[in-house]
Amino acid sequence: MAKTIQSVRGFGDVLPEQTPVWQFVEDRLRSTLDRYGYEEIRLPVLEKTELFSRSIGEVTDIVEKEMYTFDDRNGDSLSLRPEGTAGCVRAAIQHGLLHNRQPRLWYAGTMFRHERPQRGRYRQFNQVGVEVFGLEGPDIDAEVILLAARMLREVGLDDIRLELNTLGTPEARAAYREALVAFLRGHEAALDADSLRRLETNPLRILDTKNPDTRAVLAEAPAMADWIDEPSRAHFRELCAILDRAGVAYTVNPQLVRGLDYYGRTVFEWITEQLGAQGTVCAGGRYDGLVEQIGGRATPAIGFALGLERLVALVEDARAAPSASSPHAYLVLVGESASREGLVLAEELRDAIPGLRLVTHCGGGGFKSQFKRADRLRANFALVMGDDEVVRGEVTIKDLYGGGEQQIVTRAELPVCMRRLLDGLPPKL
Ligand code: ATP
Ligand code: MG
Repeated sequence: MAKTIQSVRGFGDVLPEQTPVWQFVEDRLRSTLDRYGYEEIRLPVLEKTELFSRSIGEVTDIVEKEMYTFDDRNGDSLSLRPEGTAGCVRAAIQHGLLHNRQPRLWYAGTMFRHERPQRGRYRQFNQVGVEVFGLEGPDIDAEVILLAARMLREVGLDDIRLELNTLGTPEARAAYREALVAFLRGHEAALDADSLRRLETNPLRILDTKNPDTRAVLAEAPAMADWIDEPSRAHFRELCAILDRAGVAYTVNPQLVRGLDYYGRTVFEWITEQLGAQGTVCAGGRYDGLVEQIGGRATPAIGFALGLERLVALVEDARAAPSASSPHAYLVLVGESASREGLVLAEELRDAIPGLRLVTHCGGGGFKSQFKRADRLRANFALVMGDDEVVRGEVTIKDLYGGGEQQIVTRAELPVCMRRLLDGLPPKL
């Protein structure tokens, strides 16, 4: 037999047992975006390398060491996109989408970064992102945050922490940067190699360090908040006021910075403790300078990106609801006569309930392994029939998502009962 070929490290497959969760998440995100009137844009996975070095920043981790960059057959340097914002801005400029318009766009797509693979961190991963152009007020910042919050709620995640910060104008940032560098120069002995390197290249990123010694030094460092300009403060105050009014919980984290160079003013992240070090599920902020930086007319902009692998992992952990394509019911059949009679029952049900998605267990086995199969397929209900039930003419219905309640009904009652249960399912299922 020939040697088998494995997938490339960090490039995963989504197997049939996982696709229902993906479809559920994708459907919910898309329909939420739709409800806010955001329009979809589809972008290429490959761009000129220069686009990313000019937008994300020459000395960011992404551009320095994470991009899949190669020369194509013409000798042009191309890169697989590591994120979606740069390409979206490029397309908006190239196609004149920003002339007298304030587009609110979203995209979904695969991104590529050469990072160390671990749970929640892959070399190929998927994002759903939003970018809004031409609006500079805190109202759109608030809308974008409310939108992301609803997207998370819609997939069943409502306990993820939102952190906010303001980075001020580029001028304020530059002044703070100088103060920070001056301070850290006095404490070089306590800095790790990474921070020393960043001191030269990207000092604000040091605020993001996880090294405890460096963190101790940072506790004494000048605070970014003291350097923020008054207009940015006012902008941030208004944003917070709208979020308060809308009942969105958040914490202001004055040390929150983003890994990409293009952010200014509002930045935000949704963070969970459930995914270890890969805790950020959604991140974004304002990037008013970027459009101009890559050749367009100065245009304010704000956006965010959700990491789908992390979202799916959380939804799986939370055992969130099944998707549009998963079965309504899985027929669990234990015993010889049940196996035989089950196929008849399934046909009766299909006749009685058009649109019913029902999977009949075949191949025998015990309750446990059959319930496992039902779980894997994310069926809403298990219909259970053992040999005893066959004799009594009964079926047990177990709700696999609504708290696991059980009821026993006669075979004659089953179609009516199932129809009622299906009507009670949330829409889209
Ligand atoms: P992290 O700090 O976890 O590296 P990041 O700041 O690099 O994240 P962004 O560039 O802001 O991430 O991307 C937005 C979202 O995309 C992240 O919050 C995360 O959910 C997801 N993401 C980023 N990199 C990866 C990856 N390598 N694998 C899976 N998801 C990722
Ligand atoms: Mg990263």
